[in-house]
Amino acid sequence: MESEFQFELGVCQWAERYWPPESERTTPVIVARQLGTKGRRWDTLVIECDTAGLQKRANFGTKRLDSDLLHIVKNAPPAYEWYRDALPEPSYPWRYVREAVHRAADRGLVDRRRGTNGRIELRRKWEYPDWVRRIIAIENKPDLDASAARDLAAQLERDVAVSLADEVWVATAATDDSIEPVLLTERPQEAGILTIDAGSRGKSSATVIWHPSTLAVAEPGTRILEQPTGGKFDASACRFEYVSPEWKAGKRLEIAERAYERGWRSYADSMRPDCRYFELRPEPDVSRPYCTAKNCHQTVRECSGSCPSFEPEPPTWRQHEWPIQGGPGAGIKRLLAEQRERQRPE
Ligand code: SF4
Repeated sequence: MESEFQFELGVCQWAERYWPPESERTTPVIVARQLGTKGRRWDTLVIECDTAGLQKRANFGTKRLDSDLLHIVKNAPPAYEWYRDALPEPSYPWRYVREAVHRAADRGLVDRRRGTNGRIELRRKWEYPDWVRRIIAIENKPDLDASAARDLAAQLERDVAVSLADEVWVATAATDDSIEPVLLTERPQEAGILTIDAGSRGKSSATVIWHPSTLAVAEPGTRILEQPTGGKFDASACRFEYVSPEWKAGKRLEIAERAYERGWRSYADSMRPDCRYFELRPEPDVSRPYCTAKNCHQTVRECSGSCPSFEPEPPTWRQHEWPIQGGPGAGIKRLLAEQRERQRPE
Protein backbone atom coordinates (compact mmCIF):
# COMPACT_ATOMS: atom_id res chain seq x y z
CA MET A 1 0.00 0.00 0.00
CA GLU A 2 1.46 3.38 -0.97
CA SER A 3 1.78 6.12 1.65
CA GLU A 4 -0.72 8.95 1.90
CA PHE A 5 1.94 11.34 0.57
CA GLN A 6 2.65 9.23 -2.51
CA PHE A 7 -1.05 8.79 -3.13
CA GLU A 8 -1.51 12.55 -2.76
CA LEU A 9 1.10 13.26 -5.44
CA GLY A 10 -0.71 10.83 -7.72
CA VAL A 11 -4.05 12.54 -7.08
CA CYS A 12 -2.51 15.97 -7.80
CA GLN A 13 -1.03 14.71 -11.04
CA TRP A 14 -4.31 13.09 -12.03
CA ALA A 15 -6.29 16.26 -11.25
CA GLU A 16 -3.85 18.41 -13.22
CA ARG A 17 -4.39 16.24 -16.29
CA TYR A 18 -7.92 14.99 -16.05
CA TRP A 19 -10.06 17.18 -13.77
CA PRO A 20 -13.13 17.19 -13.76
CA PRO A 21 -13.89 13.49 -13.40
CA GLU A 22 -16.14 11.97 -16.04
CA SER A 23 -16.61 15.16 -18.06
CA GLU A 24 -14.76 17.48 -20.42
CA ARG A 25 -12.57 20.25 -19.03
CA THR A 26 -14.03 23.65 -19.89
CA THR A 27 -11.84 25.89 -17.71
CA PRO A 28 -8.14 25.98 -16.88
CA VAL A 29 -7.30 24.47 -13.49
CA ILE A 30 -4.60 25.01 -10.91
CA VAL A 31 -3.82 22.16 -8.53
CA ALA A 32 -2.20 22.66 -5.14
CA ARG A 33 -1.67 20.57 -2.04
CA GLN A 34 -1.78 21.14 1.71
CA LEU A 35 -3.52 24.50 1.66
CA GLY A 36 -6.48 25.94 3.52
CA THR A 37 -7.14 28.10 6.55
CA LYS A 38 -5.48 28.26 9.96
CA GLY A 39 -7.79 25.56 11.29
CA ARG A 40 -8.19 23.36 8.21
CA ARG A 41 -5.76 22.25 5.55
CA TRP A 42 -6.89 20.21 2.59
CA ASP A 43 -4.76 17.56 0.92
CA THR A 44 -5.50 18.56 -2.66
CA LEU A 45 -7.14 21.69 -4.00
CA VAL A 46 -8.34 22.22 -7.54
CA ILE A 47 -8.97 25.82 -8.51
CA GLU A 48 -11.17 26.10 -11.58
CA CYS A 49 -10.32 29.41 -13.22
CA ASP A 50 -11.93 31.89 -15.56
CA THR A 51 -9.76 31.82 -18.71
CA ALA A 52 -9.67 35.58 -19.39
CA GLY A 53 -9.40 36.39 -15.67
CA LEU A 54 -6.46 34.04 -15.28
CA GLN A 55 -4.64 35.69 -18.17
CA LYS A 56 -5.11 39.06 -16.50
CA ARG A 57 -3.98 37.67 -13.15
CA ALA A 58 -0.59 36.99 -14.79
CA ASN A 59 0.02 40.79 -14.84
CA PHE A 60 0.55 40.62 -11.09
CA GLY A 61 3.40 38.09 -11.29
CA THR A 62 3.73 34.52 -10.05
CA LYS A 63 4.01 35.34 -6.35
CA ARG A 64 0.86 35.28 -4.26
CA LEU A 65 -0.90 38.43 -3.12
CA ASP A 66 -1.69 38.27 0.60
CA SER A 67 -4.81 39.85 2.09
CA ASP A 68 -3.13 43.26 2.59
CA LEU A 69 -1.90 43.39 -1.00
CA LEU A 70 -5.29 42.23 -2.29
CA HIS A 71 -6.87 45.13 -0.40
CA ILE A 72 -4.56 47.53 -2.26
CA VAL A 73 -4.76 46.13 -5.80
CA LYS A 74 -8.52 45.60 -5.70
CA ASN A 75 -9.19 49.17 -4.61
CA ALA A 76 -6.40 51.16 -6.29
CA PRO A 77 -7.97 54.02 -8.27
CA PRO A 78 -7.48 54.59 -12.04
CA ALA A 79 -5.91 58.05 -11.42
CA TYR A 80 -3.46 59.11 -8.69
CA GLU A 81 -5.13 59.69 -5.29
CA TRP A 82 -4.03 59.96 -1.69
CA TYR A 83 -4.23 56.37 -0.40
CA ARG A 84 -6.52 57.35 2.49
CA ASP A 85 -9.04 58.87 0.09
CA ALA A 86 -8.78 56.05 -2.42
CA LEU A 87 -8.98 52.96 -0.24
CA PRO A 88 -11.86 51.81 1.96
CA GLU A 89 -11.50 52.49 5.69
CA PRO A 90 -9.62 49.48 7.10
CA SER A 91 -10.50 47.72 10.35
CA TYR A 92 -6.86 48.19 11.43
CA PRO A 93 -4.59 51.26 11.66
CA TRP A 94 -3.85 53.20 8.47
CA ARG A 95 -0.11 52.83 8.96
CA TYR A 96 -0.41 49.16 8.00
CA VAL A 97 -2.21 50.17 4.83
CA ARG A 98 0.58 52.62 4.02
CA GLU A 99 3.13 49.83 4.46
CA ALA A 100 1.10 47.61 2.14
CA VAL A 101 0.95 50.41 -0.48
CA HIS A 102 4.75 50.58 -0.39
CA ARG A 103 5.02 46.81 -0.61
CA ALA A 104 2.63 46.71 -3.57
CA ALA A 105 4.55 49.49 -5.33
CA ASP A 106 7.93 47.82 -4.65
CA ARG A 107 6.59 44.67 -6.31
CA GLY A 108 5.38 46.70 -9.30
CA LEU A 109 1.69 45.96 -8.60
CA VAL A 110 0.58 49.64 -8.43
CA ASP A 111 2.07 53.05 -9.25
CA ARG A 112 3.09 55.24 -6.33
CA ARG A 113 4.27 58.82 -6.01
CA ARG A 114 4.63 61.49 -3.36
CA GLY A 115 1.90 64.04 -3.96
CA THR A 116 1.18 67.46 -2.50
CA ASN A 117 2.05 67.84 1.21
CA GLY A 118 4.26 64.78 0.84
CA ARG A 119 1.24 62.49 0.80
CA ILE A 120 1.60 58.99 -0.64
CA GLU A 121 -0.59 58.62 -3.71
CA LEU A 122 -1.31 55.48 -5.66
CA ARG A 123 -2.76 54.49 -9.00
CA ARG A 124 -3.65 51.10 -10.36
CA LYS A 125 -1.68 49.54 -13.22
CA TRP A 126 -4.20 46.82 -13.99
CA GLU A 127 -7.59 45.92 -12.66
CA TYR A 128 -7.40 42.89 -10.39
CA PRO A 129 -9.47 40.28 -12.25
CA ASP A 130 -12.17 37.96 -11.03
CA TRP A 131 -10.25 34.80 -11.92
CA VAL A 132 -11.46 32.13 -9.48
CA ARG A 133 -14.57 30.24 -10.52
CA ARG A 134 -14.74 27.27 -8.17
CA ILE A 135 -12.61 25.74 -5.46
CA ILE A 136 -12.66 21.97 -5.03
CA ALA A 137 -11.30 20.42 -1.84
CA ILE A 138 -10.16 16.79 -1.91
CA GLU A 139 -9.24 14.74 1.13
CA ASN A 140 -6.92 11.87 0.19
CA LYS A 141 -7.32 8.61 2.05
CA PRO A 142 -5.79 5.71 0.16
CA ASP A 143 -6.57 3.24 2.92
CA LEU A 144 -9.69 3.59 5.03
CA ASP A 145 -10.83 1.33 7.83
CA ALA A 146 -14.10 1.91 9.71
CA SER A 147 -12.58 4.04 12.46
CA ALA A 148 -10.63 6.28 10.01
CA ALA A 149 -13.79 6.62 7.91
CA ARG A 150 -15.73 7.75 10.99
CA ASP A 151 -13.11 10.42 11.83
CA LEU A 152 -13.13 11.54 8.25
CA ALA A 153 -16.93 11.77 8.23
CA ALA A 154 -16.81 14.23 11.18
CA GLN A 155 -14.21 16.30 9.35
CA LEU A 156 -16.29 16.36 6.18
CA GLU A 157 -19.30 17.50 8.17
CA ARG A 158 -17.27 20.50 9.28
CA ASP A 159 -16.23 21.24 5.69
CA VAL A 160 -19.81 21.08 4.47
CA ALA A 161 -21.08 23.24 7.35
CA VAL A 162 -18.61 26.05 6.71
CA SER A 163 -18.92 25.70 2.90
CA LEU A 164 -15.70 27.43 2.02
CA ALA A 165 -15.09 25.18 -0.99
CA ASP A 166 -17.64 24.71 -3.76
CA GLU A 167 -17.26 20.94 -3.60
CA VAL A 168 -15.78 18.55 -1.09
CA TRP A 169 -14.53 15.09 -2.11
CA VAL A 170 -12.83 12.07 -0.59
CA ALA A 171 -10.35 10.35 -2.87
CA THR A 172 -9.53 6.78 -2.00
CA ALA A 173 -7.37 4.21 -3.77
CA ALA A 174 -8.97 1.94 -6.33
CA THR A 175 -8.69 -1.59 -4.97
CA ASP A 176 -10.46 -4.86 -5.50
CA ASP A 177 -12.16 -4.39 -2.11
CA SER A 178 -15.41 -2.50 -1.80
CA ILE A 179 -15.56 1.01 -0.31
CA GLU A 180 -15.61 1.05 3.47
CA PRO A 181 -19.39 1.01 4.27
CA VAL A 182 -18.99 3.54 7.11
CA LEU A 183 -17.74 6.09 4.58
CA LEU A 184 -20.88 5.65 2.53
CA THR A 185 -23.29 5.84 5.43
CA GLU A 186 -21.78 8.28 7.95
CA ARG A 187 -20.28 11.03 5.86
CA PRO A 188 -22.50 14.00 4.84
CA GLN A 189 -24.30 13.23 1.59
CA GLU A 190 -22.98 16.50 0.11
CA ALA A 191 -19.43 15.12 -0.01
CA GLY A 192 -18.43 13.21 -3.14
CA ILE A 193 -16.36 10.02 -3.28
CA LEU A 194 -13.79 9.21 -5.95
CA THR A 195 -11.66 6.14 -6.32
CA ILE A 196 -8.36 6.86 -8.01
CA ASP A 197 -5.83 4.58 -9.54
CA ALA A 198 -3.15 7.22 -9.23
CA GLY A 199 -0.69 6.04 -11.79
CA SER A 200 1.33 3.65 -9.73
CA ARG A 201 0.09 0.79 -11.85
CA GLY A 202 -0.27 2.58 -15.16
CA LYS A 203 -2.28 5.51 -16.48
CA SER A 204 -4.22 7.43 -13.83
CA SER A 205 -7.94 6.97 -13.82
CA ALA A 206 -10.79 7.89 -11.52
CA THR A 207 -14.27 6.61 -10.88
CA VAL A 208 -16.99 8.65 -9.24
CA ILE A 209 -18.69 6.58 -6.54
CA TRP A 210 -20.82 9.45 -5.29
CA HIS A 211 -21.35 12.88 -6.85
CA PRO A 212 -21.03 15.82 -4.44
CA SER A 213 -23.51 18.69 -4.04
CA THR A 214 -22.47 22.23 -4.83
CA LEU A 215 -22.06 24.06 -1.51
CA ALA A 216 -23.42 27.54 -0.79
CA VAL A 217 -20.16 29.48 -0.78
CA ALA A 218 -21.90 32.86 -1.07
CA GLU A 219 -24.11 32.21 2.00
CA PRO A 220 -23.07 32.47 5.67
CA GLY A 221 -21.34 29.30 6.88
CA THR A 222 -21.26 27.51 10.22
CA ARG A 223 -17.95 26.73 11.84
CA ILE A 224 -18.38 23.75 14.15
CA LEU A 225 -16.12 24.32 17.15
CA GLU A 226 -17.09 21.30 19.22
CA GLN A 227 -19.10 18.27 18.34
CA PRO A 228 -20.50 15.81 20.90
CA THR A 229 -19.29 12.31 20.30
CA GLY A 230 -22.80 11.02 20.75
CA GLY A 231 -21.64 8.35 23.21
CA LYS A 232 -23.73 7.16 26.14
CA PHE A 233 -22.10 9.56 28.62
CA ASP A 234 -21.71 12.55 26.34
CA ALA A 235 -24.41 15.12 27.10
CA SER A 236 -22.43 18.08 25.77
CA ALA A 237 -23.92 20.50 23.27
CA CYS A 238 -22.52 21.28 19.86
CA ARG A 239 -20.65 24.61 19.84
CA PHE A 240 -20.46 26.60 16.65
CA GLU A 241 -20.10 30.09 15.24
CA TYR A 242 -21.22 31.73 12.02
CA VAL A 243 -18.83 32.94 9.36
CA SER A 244 -19.89 35.70 7.02
CA PRO A 245 -19.95 35.48 3.22
CA GLU A 246 -17.38 38.33 3.17
CA TRP A 247 -14.96 36.35 5.35
CA LYS A 248 -15.43 33.34 3.09
CA ALA A 249 -14.87 35.35 -0.10
CA GLY A 250 -11.65 36.81 1.34
CA LYS A 251 -10.36 33.42 2.47
CA ARG A 252 -11.20 31.78 -0.85
CA LEU A 253 -9.21 34.36 -2.73
CA GLU A 254 -6.25 34.08 -0.35
CA ILE A 255 -6.27 30.30 -0.77
CA ALA A 256 -6.47 30.62 -4.56
CA GLU A 257 -3.57 33.10 -4.52
CA ARG A 258 -1.45 30.65 -2.53
CA ALA A 259 -2.36 27.85 -4.90
CA TYR A 260 -1.38 30.09 -7.84
CA GLU A 261 2.06 30.66 -6.37
CA ARG A 262 2.82 27.16 -5.08
CA GLY A 263 1.10 24.63 -7.27
CA TRP A 264 1.62 21.10 -5.93
CA ARG A 265 5.24 20.42 -6.81
CA SER A 266 6.64 22.62 -4.06
CA TYR A 267 7.00 19.51 -1.83
CA ALA A 268 10.70 19.46 -2.74
CA ASP A 269 11.06 22.63 -0.65
CA SER A 270 10.24 20.57 2.46
CA MET A 271 12.38 17.55 1.52
CA ARG A 272 16.10 16.97 1.01
CA PRO A 273 16.76 16.77 -2.73
CA ASP A 274 20.32 17.80 -1.81
CA CYS A 275 20.78 14.34 -0.20
CA ARG A 276 22.84 11.92 -2.30
CA TYR A 277 20.12 9.28 -1.96
CA PHE A 278 17.27 11.45 -3.23
CA GLU A 279 15.87 10.65 -6.66
CA LEU A 280 12.83 11.61 -8.65
CA ARG A 281 11.61 8.42 -10.28
CA PRO A 282 9.47 8.87 -13.34
CA GLU A 283 6.71 6.30 -13.09
CA PRO A 284 4.00 5.74 -15.66
CA ASP A 285 2.03 8.87 -14.89
CA VAL A 286 3.78 10.78 -12.15
CA SER A 287 7.32 11.45 -10.90
CA ARG A 288 7.70 10.55 -7.26
CA PRO A 289 10.55 11.09 -4.80
CA TYR A 290 12.52 7.91 -4.10
CA CYS A 291 15.17 7.20 -1.49
CA THR A 292 17.90 4.86 -2.70
CA ALA A 293 19.19 4.40 0.88
CA LYS A 294 15.84 3.10 2.12
CA ASN A 295 14.76 1.64 -1.19
CA CYS A 296 11.31 3.12 -0.96
CA HIS A 297 9.24 6.20 -1.75
CA GLN A 298 9.97 8.27 1.33
CA THR A 299 7.55 10.64 3.05
CA VAL A 300 8.17 14.36 3.61
CA ARG A 301 8.54 13.69 7.32
CA GLU A 302 11.19 10.99 6.79
CA CYS A 303 13.12 13.04 4.26
CA SER A 304 14.17 15.87 6.52
CA GLY A 305 17.30 17.28 8.11
CA SER A 306 16.88 14.83 11.01
CA CYS A 307 16.97 11.74 8.76
CA PRO A 308 19.78 9.50 10.15
CA SER A 309 20.69 8.34 6.63
CA PHE A 310 21.04 11.82 5.17
CA GLU A 311 24.28 12.41 3.33
CA PRO A 312 24.97 15.59 1.41
CA GLU A 313 25.65 15.45 -2.31
CA PRO A 314 29.37 14.87 -2.85
CA PRO A 315 31.11 18.08 -3.91
CA THR A 316 32.19 16.42 -7.20
CA TRP A 317 28.52 16.32 -8.24
CA ARG A 318 28.62 20.04 -8.16
CA GLN A 319 31.63 20.59 -10.36
CA HIS A 320 29.74 21.15 -13.57
CA GLU A 321 28.84 24.81 -13.81
CA TRP A 322 28.70 25.07 -10.01
CA PRO A 323 27.95 27.37 -8.24
CA ILE A 324 25.76 28.89 -10.94
CA GLN A 325 23.61 25.82 -11.54
CA GLY A 326 24.05 24.02 -8.20
CA GLY A 327 24.20 20.25 -7.74
CA PRO A 328 21.59 17.60 -8.56
CA GLY A 329 19.46 18.65 -5.55
CA ALA A 330 19.20 22.16 -6.92
CA GLY A 331 18.54 20.61 -10.35
CA ILE A 332 15.57 18.63 -9.01
CA LYS A 333 14.10 21.75 -7.43
CA ARG A 334 14.64 23.61 -10.68
CA LEU A 335 13.02 20.81 -12.68
CA LEU A 336 9.94 20.84 -10.45
CA ALA A 337 9.74 24.64 -10.64
CA GLU A 338 9.96 24.45 -14.44
CA GLN A 339 7.22 21.82 -14.54
CA ARG A 340 5.11 24.08 -12.32
CA GLU A 341 5.62 26.99 -14.71
CA ARG A 342 4.79 24.84 -17.74
CA GLN A 343 1.58 23.68 -16.10
CA ARG A 344 0.52 27.17 -14.96
CA PRO A 345 -2.45 27.94 -17.21
CA GLU A 346 -2.10 31.14 -19.26
S1 SF4 B 1 18.42 9.21 3.12
FE1 SF4 B 1 16.91 10.40 4.25
S2 SF4 B 1 17.27 12.54 3.61
FE2 SF4 B 1 18.29 11.18 2.10
S3 SF4 B 1 16.76 10.87 0.48
FE3 SF4 B 1 16.55 9.18 1.93
S4 SF4 B 1 14.95 9.86 3.33
FE4 SF4 B 1 15.69 11.69 2.25
